[in-house]
Amino acid sequence: MQIGKPLRTVIVEPLKLPVSDPTGEPISDPPDRLPEPNAPQAELEQVPTETMSIPDYISPVVGYRVWTWNVLGLKSLCGMSWHPGQSLAARCKASTVVGTLIDRAKAAGDSHTAPQENCTCGIYAIKTLHRFRSAGYERYGIYGEVYLWGTIVEHELGYRAQFAYPKTFVLQPGAMPFTLAEIWPRLQALTLFGSDIFVLGNGETISLWSKSSGFGAPLSHTAVE
Ligand SMILES: [Zn+2]
Repeated sequence: MQIGKPLRTVIVEPLKLPVSDPTGEPISDPPDRLPEPNAPQAELEQVPTETMSIPDYISPVVGYRVWTWNVLGLKSLCGMSWHPGQSLAARCKASTVVGTLIDRAKAAGDSHTAPQENCTCGIYAIKTLHRFRSAGYERYGIYGEVYLWGTIVEHELGYRAQFAYPKTFVLQPGAMPFTLAEIWPRLQALTLFGSDIFVLGNGETISLWSKSSGFGAPLSHTAVE
């Protein structure tokens, strides 16, 4: 996505997260920041301490993005899978180390928490629907709004975020890779995200499904916020 030059970095810690993990506990920053009791002090000093950051905003930022939607599920254009009920967490390609806290601390010298202002990592979104449409992104498949939070690098035209979750989906009949017979189970799978689903017809977005009213919501709910 073309999002222009970076402007600033903000910290967004929503009072109410848009998604919970499967156990129902709120998802917060990666949970392994607390030092292990017996770890040597020299290694502890390399553990990032950004959990002390004071938030700039307390509600998620909302941007626009596009996904591919097929038999393999919902994916970013780069191929990363999005899962119902789980926030997507950005990883810099230099920070894919998994393992114990000490493994990560050892790798800290050549990796970082995504996103960083001087890097290209993070979950991308466009700031405005107008810009999103004028760049032609919606032709790639299913598009919609995403909640963004955590560390966010704001660019001229968009954002790179640490965490993201779909807020709304907009389906375009012409861009769907399914026959009508195939679409029903796929739609039901999409509802598992709990994100409102709209369908685009004659330039209008019409509510197809919402968390509060299910399929066939009243047409008074047709506007995408
Ligand atoms: Zn990076």
